[in-house]
Amino acid sequence: MSPGSDGQKLPEPGFATLAVHAGQAPDPATGAIMTPVYLTSTYVQERPEKHKGFDYARTAHPTRLALERNLAALEGAAFGLCFSSGMAATSTVIEALNPGDHVLCSNDLYGGTYRVFTKVFARFGVAFSFVDATDLSAVEAGFTPKTKLVWLETPSNPLLRICDIREIAKLARRKKARLCVDNTFASPALQQPLSMGADIVVHSTTKYLGGHSDVVGGAVLTNNQALHQEYKFLQNAVGAVPGPLDCFLILRGAKTLPLRMRAHCENAGIVAKHLLAHPEVAKVHYPGLPTHPGHEIAKWQMSGFGGMISFELKGDMERAKRMISSCKVFSLAESLGGVESLIGHPASMTHGSIPREERLKAGLSDGLIRLSVGIETVEDLTADLDSAITASLRP
Ligand SMILES: *Cc1c(COP(=O)(O)O)cnc(C)c1O
Repeated sequence: MSPGSDGQKLPEPGFATLAVHAGQAPDPATGAIMTPVYLTSTYVQERPEKHKGFDYARTAHPTRLALERNLAALEGAAFGLCFSSGMAATSTVIEALNPGDHVLCSNDLYGGTYRVFTKVFARFGVAFSFVDATDLSAVEAGFTPKTKLVWLETPSNPLLRICDIREIAKLARRKKARLCVDNTFASPALQQPLSMGADIVVHSTTKYLGGHSDVVGGAVLTNNQALHQEYKFLQNAVGAVPGPLDCFLILRGAKTLPLRMRAHCENAGIVAKHLLAHPEVAKVHYPGLPTHPGHEIAKWQMSGFGGMISFELKGDMERAKRMISSCKVFSLAESLGGVESLIGHPASMTHGSIPREERLKAGLSDGLIRLSVGIETVEDLTADLDSAITASLRP
């Protein structure tokens, strides 16, 4: 509680108020309401070690600091750090581990996360194993005496599987491991893992937080001061920091996050039901559908079901490729979370490097199509999908 101008207590600011204001104050020099893009690499000091809190821009930067405080507020975290990409944020959490440490991961991770874990950090002696994290007994059985970290993505990519953050946080605490949740797909507008017992949240701010497909960035948020100090040391030592204009763009995007997420959820809910009723669609994966196996957990773990959908078209891989190439409103592209709708084919695009046998075993069929549902007029989205499905019938 903070005192109002008439001395009365004001309520704690709500999420939308934080999104607009947290971490930002009018520029003291000019009154500019928007945080300036400070294009500077260094800062003039009064005398050695006497400065205004900023000495070199890799170490500390005012536009970045505003963004770090804003994102921390949105995740309900005491501390936030920003990075040049989601992968740089992810890497920082792993760089804090030591050779011999083990990381227990959910098994349908973002492809780049799987790649950096198995192809980069495994070379430095950190061990990674992968379990179906929707199955709590599989998670429990996956711990080893060396497990230092549990890594989750929920909802997952591309099957939108839901795992139970609260229960996995309890398991991790019992095994003296930390829990890190990649919260990119839900965004803090829909899910706040720290409030459910997670120790660390990671974001690709490229996606919903930025929200306009115009910037690449990442963030690490925590309430643990010792962890924050380690990550801050690594941020400066390794140097994967974002530029000032990138920070400004994400800060501007975050202001409308609650509005955009409401629109993404509403449109995705309508598109998911529309696809479910379509005779050429074999299966729809969306946590908002009562038929989704994670629906009950999603109902209390999330305040909305998000903007990501995947579905299976009847027929073969060639038909799925024809369908996604026939869309006019949905753009054929990687990535997600922007205001515009995107469509992709995981088997040939994001997950193309996984051998077919393994893909099928993981439930990722040849005909699976992924949608990032944007905030356009929803009738235009359903009409676009319908006409592309019809067009795909003809080879
Ligand atoms: C995109 C993405 C990342 C990687 O982020 P970049 O900003 O592309 O480096 C990590 N996790 C998830 C879930 C993502 O969607």
